[in-house]
Amino acid sequence: MDDCLFCKIAAGTIPAKIVYQDELIVAFDDIRPQAPTHTLIIPREHFAALPDVPAAKGDLLAHILVKAPLIAAAKGIGASGYRIVLNTGRDSGQDVFHIHFHLLGGRRMAWPPG
Ligand code: 5GP
Ligand code: ZN
Repeated sequence: MDDCLFCKIAAGTIPAKIVYQDELIVAFDDIRPQAPTHTLIIPREHFAALPDVPAAKGDLLAHILVKAPLIAAAKGIGASGYRIVLNTGRDSGQDVFHIHFHLLGGRRMAWPPG
């Protein structure tokens, strides 16, 4: 998508600290980290939010979750633990409308989340 920040990061036209990438997904560090490790995992393909992902693309979401432990391990938080967050829509606080999973770790997380 032409006017999408995360599509541009996936394409390499806007710089980011890439942690992992393959033919389907890209993981890069969040520009405003909320924890010692805060990495975003996105599909290369543009979907604005979770409800926009068709059932036929379920494997793509599964791929992100299958790779998340490897990305967490690469960031050094595989053993200490981490939280994966998928903000969806207004009440969640989503403000970038290219679906992304937050991978957060390196400190103790509070529950319930804010
Ligand atoms: P959301 O609130 O939509 O779930 O999360 C969007 C995330 O994208 C935020 O954590 C924000 O810090 C991050 N972000 C926004 N712009 C950029 C950017 O240009 N580069 C990177 N690496 N992260 C960004
Ligand atoms: Zn996009």
